[in-house]
Amino acid sequence: MSSYTIIQNGFVIDPEKSGIEQKEIGIIDGKLADSKDVLAQGPNIEYIDAEGACIAPGFIDLHVHVFKDATTLGIAADLVGIMQGVTTIVDAGSSGYANYQLLKETVIEQSETEVLAFLNIAKDGLGAGLSELADPKSLMSIEEAKEIFANEPQIVGLKARMSGSVVKEQGIAPLEHARQLADALQKPIMVHIGNPPPYLNEVFPLLEQGDVVTHAFHGKKNGILNEEGYLLDSAAEALQRGVLFDVGHGTSSFSYQTLRKFKENYTEPFSISTDIYLNNYDNPVGSLMLTMTKLLELGFTLEEVVRAVTIRAAQAISLTEQGTLRHGTRADLTLFTLQDKVTNLVDSEGVVLVANRVLQPKMTVRNGRVVFRQ
Ligand SMILES: [Zn+2]
Repeated sequence: MSSYTIIQNGFVIDPEKSGIEQKEIGIIDGKLADSKDVLAQGPNIEYIDAEGACIAPGFIDLHVHVFKDATTLGIAADLVGIMQGVTTIVDAGSSGYANYQLLKETVIEQSETEVLAFLNIAKDGLGAGLSELADPKSLMSIEEAKEIFANEPQIVGLKARMSGSVVKEQGIAPLEHARQLADALQKPIMVHIGNPPPYLNEVFPLLEQGDVVTHAFHGKKNGILNEEGYLLDSAAEALQRGVLFDVGHGTSSFSYQTLRKFKENYTEPFSISTDIYLNNYDNPVGSLMLTMTKLLELGFTLEEVVRAVTIRAAQAISLTEQGTLRHGTRADLTLFTLQDKVTNLVDSEGVVLVANRVLQPKMTVRNGRVVFRQ
């Protein structure tokens, strides 16, 4: 039997259009539809009242860690997913070639949230500690990569963590390997940046259009900006080539000051993600909506922060059913409110912004079905 739903009275934010408009959203059999077409099917229509709420395509968080069974940092997928108004999350490198099946069986197949993965180029992902690229023997081969990408549609790209503590003596070599894998697979690399080595002047030249730099706005030394607040030449060239700068908040990877300086001379971040895991869930990350609220406080508009977690996040990993309100696509929706509430918002450097309004999840819809209500 077919199902028909109309969501009424909400303020719709369509990331592919400008403006916020009060209008109805129709759903037929789990797909977005014109509400007139739903009415034409009457009379068995379920009505949802979205009074006072905004409605957007389901939010996408490109950087989370939800591999509970193999890593100590993994957090429950639905806790950071549908329960926080996020319909799609991408586990960023918790698993690798050797333990991806366990992620699939214990998380991807068990969650109401859609869980995708950037596969760590180290075979055990973060399952064997946080220096996963220190031993070249741990790297996934091109043959292994081709095999697993051909068989596992939830894997959307590669993850390579380029910090001194991760690569040890290997320097830039693991990223050179990741480049070869990505070229063979025609998939993006999500590159984590942090404390060198390797230095960004070695990292950026290896990145191409569609690759994602997460933790782009960290506040550590040797970041993307020089002393005067301008991008390093290698970073500016990468941005020009179409390399995407992602927030990736995390415990120690998001600085208001860095993003403020970036905003003065450049555009908005391409995507907003949390890098949420067990130890930063309470503080400082909280949730994707709290991270978006931080960017609102830094002067980005509601439409900008919604675009950064919908259409642009979807495009980064070539999703066509998500991040959009086009009719006929999957009805994954996020309903949220902007609540008047004085809240201290802390970045990874311990800097506090006092916000007067905070984004709050109200209802989450997956495949046309309400899976969470506040
Ligand atoms: Zn991470």
